[in-house]
Amino acid sequence: MQSMQGEKFQRSVRFQKRHKRKFKATRNHHHFLLPRSRGGGMSLNNLLLIDIEKHEKWHALWGNRTADEILDLLTRVVRAKKNQHH
Ligand SMILES: [Zn+2]
Repeated sequence: MQSMQGEKFQRSVRFQKRHKRKFKATRNHHHFLLPRSRGGGMSLNNLLLIDIEKHEKWHALWGNRTADEILDLLTRVVRAKKNQHH
């Protein structure tokens, strides 16, 4: 999928990277749902606009996990707790 809107958006991502300081005032970051380091692309459906501080905390807590991997992890934690007998 490479719509005009997608291209425009990708240009804005590059623009934002070049002008980090200015954009810090907007307090938004682009988060890659599948990290770039794991082959994630620049397409719209791989990007999430997220508050800067939340973004930092997201990665502090979840590293480079995808949302699906985080859900799996939480599901396992909940299941394990439910099966805990003591
Ligand atoms: Zn991120």
